[in-house]
Amino acid sequence: MTVRRPLLAATLMALAVSACGEPAGQSAADASGELNLYTARHYDADEQLYRLFEEKTGIKINRIDGRPDQLMARMRTEGTNSPADVFVAADAGALWRAQEAGLLQPVTSAALTAAIPANLRDPEGHWFGLARRARVIAYDTTKVRPDEVDTYEEIVSPRFRGKLCIRSSDSVYNLSLVGALIEAWGPQKAGDWVKGVVANMARPPEGGDRDQIRAVAAGVCEITVTNTYYYIRMANGEDAADRAVTQRVKLAFPSLGEAGTHVNVSGGGVARHAPNRANAIRFLEFLATPEAQAVFATANNEFTAANGVANPAPVDAYARFRANPMSVTVYGRRQAEAQSLMTTAGWR
Ligand code: FE
Repeated sequence: MTVRRPLLAATLMALAVSACGEPAGQSAADASGELNLYTARHYDADEQLYRLFEEKTGIKINRIDGRPDQLMARMRTEGTNSPADVFVAADAGALWRAQEAGLLQPVTSAALTAAIPANLRDPEGHWFGLARRARVIAYDTTKVRPDEVDTYEEIVSPRFRGKLCIRSSDSVYNLSLVGALIEAWGPQKAGDWVKGVVANMARPPEGGDRDQIRAVAAGVCEITVTNTYYYIRMANGEDAADRAVTQRVKLAFPSLGEAGTHVNVSGGGVARHAPNRANAIRFLEFLATPEAQAVFATANNEFTAANGVANPAPVDAYARFRANPMSVTVYGRRQAEAQSLMTTAGWR
């Protein structure tokens, strides 16, 4: 009996795998029960997602962390021998670049196409958005009225000359935002906006989004641009000083044209030479399940991406904005243009 048990378990696991819709003909490597994850996400909360996946599937995750470009360079160098199964990034532009570099393969997954809205993924299945974040304005409520910050145009209005804090142009979040502005407005108006950002800066860019929010509260500037989850984390976190900051600084959800607030995604794709391809697809499908979506929201304060999965507290309080329906593939396609506008304007 004791000898047969592992065999039975293995058979059940194989059944479970095929029930999840994996393609037939898995490579031998899939049987090893491993997944090599190359991730550019930088959030502690992800540990919870990995543990949950390992518990549910018995597949062990080996993780390599790095900046998106470091990971892509590594995959390129490793070539056909790359152990990478899944590439994960916290920006649609980075996912698009990995695809352009030939580092991802298209996958067909009924579960992922059903779960993830079409505007949040690559139409060919090279990558899928798995959690959403909006890039919005945080403002000092003692100095700024909400109606002064309800469009992206107002960030560059003379009203905020010398009163804007914003991180550097090498932030992929800013690159993707400018890409979206180019798509919505055309290069002329987007170029003027980028110049307006530089003209309005209270100080040269330094630090991340949370540092900008703290600078607003400290009176260094009156407005900043931030990803939603950073603010929500400060508002609900352990740090009393950060919680106090969010009493004075509030979020405005500006509209891009008439179409709603700029939204970006965290997401992932299957690596071109994935040795554990079936496990890779299974991992992405897991991340789109309601259970994993809830972890993105509760542990990292991102918004859910999957259809029909509600946002839990505390992010639900911030989730009632109109999300711009623009395809996130645009941010990659417009990235070179965005970079060039920002360099020309001297946004460092
Ligand atoms: Fe981030």
